[in-house]
Amino acid sequence: MDNKEILVKTALSPSRLHGLDYALNPYRGCEHACVYCYAPAVIHWNKGKWGELVEAKINLPRILSKELNVKKKGVVGVGTVTDPYQPSEKKYEITRRCLELLKIHDFPVCIQTKSSLVLRDIDLFKEFSNIEVGVTITSLNDRIRERIEPGASSVKERFQALKELSDIGIDTWVFLGPLLPHITEVEPLIDAIADAGPKYVIVDRLRLRNGVWEHISEFIKSYDLQLLPEYEMIFLKSNDYYREVFETIIRKCREKGLKCEINNLYEKEL
Ligand code: SF4
Repeated sequence: MDNKEILVKTALSPSRLHGLDYALNPYRGCEHACVYCYAPAVIHWNKGKWGELVEAKINLPRILSKELNVKKKGVVGVGTVTDPYQPSEKKYEITRRCLELLKIHDFPVCIQTKSSLVLRDIDLFKEFSNIEVGVTITSLNDRIRERIEPGASSVKERFQALKELSDIGIDTWVFLGPLLPHITEVEPLIDAIADAGPKYVIVDRLRLRNGVWEHISEFIKSYDLQLLPEYEMIFLKSNDYYREVFETIIRKCREKGLKCEINNLYEKEL
């Protein structure tokens, strides 16, 4: 994996994600290299294989500092496109320095990550008046996780991070997705998530933006070739597969007293 240091002209961009006013992404590229990632299409990535190059926005804190003096206060989503706690953050600490500024200006923050590196910043989180930390969970099986999210933290580390944050009183949430048909173990996952104490769960299907089908179908062929016709049916033809899965999740979350929301933000675009 290579790093490149880049300079940016803006820090906060308007966000149309539910509950967020601004998006802040300290890195372009993501070494977590998830097989289902559609970020390359979102940012029009044309710099080689996703996961092999990460561009660190080294002047982001300076630009953010200026913007925070003039922008209207609003909720900042940290890591809306790429993971803010991917391994490069250990070296650059751009996310941490941005969080320090957001805290000084008392902007509400919502973080999303697949990395237990997020625990490094617990001291900062404690000083925020309004912060939520979201951890993405896709499987209970680390052998599957290794194949679909090779650069991200293990399943165990993510659950530990979630629990540790929840236990000390930081508001946490879980992004449960993307749900991989016939692979994601929905009910045991909800049991495990409920035990880790998040405030709520956002559930999402697999989304096939540019290039994702190619990577997913390659993964399915090597994981279990017999699943391929089923995936083609679900994703390439009209199919109701997710309706039943979502119903199961809603029922199970109700049983566990867990607030749950099905993400349909991009439904119309698919
Ligand atoms: S963590 Fe997010 S941005 Fe990074 S590779 Fe995975 S899906 Fe893409």
